[in-house]
Amino acid sequence: MLKNGEDEFPKIKIRNFVIKQNAEELTNRFNINFVGVAKGVCADTRIISTMINSGIKTIGDSRIKNLKKINKHFNVNTMLLRIPMISEADNVIKYSNYSLNSEKKVLEKLSKEAQKQQKTHKPIVMVDVGDRREGVLPENTIQFLKKVKNLPNLKITGIGSNLGCFGGILPTKKNKQILIDLVEEAEKELDLELPIISGGSTIELKMLEQNKLPKKINQLRIGEAILLGTSVSQNREIPYLRQDAFEIEAEIIELKKKPSKPQGKTGKDAFGKKPEFQDKGKRKRAIIAIGKQDTTPKGLKPINNEIEVLGASSDHTILDIQNTEQKYETGDKIKFTPNYSALLKAFTSNYVKKQYIN
Ligand SMILES: *Cc1c(COP(=O)(O)O)cnc(C)c1O
Repeated sequence: MLKNGEDEFPKIKIRNFVIKQNAEELTNRFNINFVGVAKGVCADTRIISTMINSGIKTIGDSRIKNLKKINKHFNVNTMLLRIPMISEADNVIKYSNYSLNSEKKVLEKLSKEAQKQQKTHKPIVMVDVGDRREGVLPENTIQFLKKVKNLPNLKITGIGSNLGCFGGILPTKKNKQILIDLVEEAEKELDLELPIISGGSTIELKMLEQNKLPKKINQLRIGEAILLGTSVSQNREIPYLRQDAFEIEAEIIELKKKPSKPQGKTGKDAFGKKPEFQDKGKRKRAIIAIGKQDTTPKGLKPINNEIEVLGASSDHTILDIQNTEQKYETGDKIKFTPNYSALLKAFTSNYVKKQYIN
C-alpha cells in the first residue's frame, strides 16, 4: 500500500512564504508592472494565489492547459507567453486576455475566434531584437503592425521582446531602445497606441537594479526570480531575494565504497551518450531514488555542499559522498536546491510528492 504525505519520496518542499517574500520584494522595490510567470511550477494554484496576494496583477504561462486552470480558480488577467498555435486559437481567446504574437496568420485566426466568442483580445507583438527566438525583425515591425492593427476584435496593445533564452543575448540599453523607437514610430505613423512595452524576463532585472532600464519599458514577465531568486543565464543569485523556496528530498537506496571508474568494455549509457570518468580510486558513493523521470538531476545542488552529483539514469542518481563528514546510512534523505530546469521537471513529474509549508 502507498503511504500518504510526509514520508513519501522523492518530494519537493514548497515554502510559499518565501515565494511571497520574493514577490513582495520585487513589487515594492521596483516601479514597473510585473507579470508573474507560472510555468516553472506548472501553474500550481497555491503558488499563483501567493503571487496574486503579493500584488501581482497578471499571471503568464506558456501552456493553454495551465491558463485554463488559472481561469477556473482566479479572477486575474492572464497572458499566454508562447506564441500561439493556430490549432489552439479558440482556447487562447477563451483563457487569456493577452498573448504574445509574431505571425499575421495566427492573429487573423485569433481575430476570427474573438469575433465568434464576442470578446476583445489584446495581443502584444514580439520583436526579435537579437536573441533569434520569437519575434518580427525590427525593420519589418511597422509594416507588420500596419497589416494587423485593424483586425476585428483584436486590440494590439503593445510590443515586447525576449532575450537570453535561445541566443543567450543579454539586455542592453541599445536593444531596449529598439522597442521604444518602434512604439514612437507606430504612434506617429500608424496612429496606433501601444501602452504596453514588455521588456522581457528575469534577465532584465539587473538593468532595472542599476537604473539602466529605460523608463518607457513598463512591463517585465518574471518567473525565475520570484520562484528561485536566481538568474540562471547570468549565473547569479539575486542578492535581495531568497533562494530557498524549494527543496527536493530523495532517499538513499544504496551506500557503498566503489571504484570511481566503471569497469568493462564501454558502450553508451541509458541515454545514448558515451560517459567519461576520471579515476579517483575507491570513493564512498550513494544512490538515491530519483532520476531523469523526476527532475533534472544535474540541476540539483546538494544543501550539504560536500556532496557531488555524479550523474543519473531515469530512476537513479549517483552521488559522491567521500568528502562529507556526515555519516549517512541507507534510508537517509538527501536535500537539494533545484535550479529552474530541475524545478520545472519536478513539478511536471507525477512521481514527485509535493509538500507545502505555508
Ligand atoms: C518563460 C518566459 C518568461 C519568464 O522567464 P523567467 O526567466 O522565468 O523570468 C518571460 N517571457 C517569455 C516569453 C517566457 O517564455
